[in-house]
Amino acid sequence: MKRLLVFLCILVASLSTLAANPYSGDVSLVVIDAGHGGSDPGAMANSLVEKDLTLSISLALEQELEKRGIDAMLTREDDTFLELQERCDIANGADFDVSGYPVFISIHINSASSPSASGFEVYTRKADRRIAMLSEATSDRLALKYSSYTNTQLNSYEMKVSAQLAENICSAFASAFPDVNMRGVKSEEFWVLNATWMPSVLVEVGFISNAGEARRMADDGFQRTLASAIADALEDL
Ligand SMILES: [Zn+2]
Repeated sequence: MKRLLVFLCILVASLSTLAANPYSGDVSLVVIDAGHGGSDPGAMANSLVEKDLTLSISLALEQELEKRGIDAMLTREDDTFLELQERCDIANGADFDVSGYPVFISIHINSASSPSASGFEVYTRKADRRIAMLSEATSDRLALKYSSYTNTQLNSYEMKVSAQLAENICSAFASAFPDVNMRGVKSEEFWVLNATWMPSVLVEVGFISNAGEARRMADDGFQRTLASAIADALEDL
């Protein structure tokens, strides 16, 4: 009997630890990061500028998420220059409902010297280059959410959610645009992925250097459908 009691106590303790996974709830805030801005135009080709496309896509995504009742915020709402770390500081200090968790989505446009290069890809960070998720700079809300975990645990949870979000975005995009070349999920040492303390992905929507993709990305209808695909991906997490 005593042994059964001990077993039950262990079981309850493990279940409550599982339930307390900081990413077990819903996404309660989406921080949308429009790449480049101000004095940093990003890539330019086919009479288009990356910083303008990333901003209009980010605004379309914010609108779509708000329509679905998902809290969203932008790191920049106009043509402003922001350092990469400033973007991360905005995300890391953001207010969110602690029954869920925040995610960070950075929007960029690709470019290549070959005008035929094309396609959609999503980046996650590399496993071995994460800064401590709990440090003196962690916001009170994130610290409250993360305080019962070690940095190693948080990293492993966060990596899984980021990978799943990247997969979801690729499959939602492939359903919405079956004719676009799908380059898939990749990982890279991007500052905004390494220095945000939450699941984070960087989306490369298409190639500005490819005339057909540039034209498509500038289209309102494309931007709205893309926003809806990303919102679907977030709801499926
Ligand atoms: Zn870029």
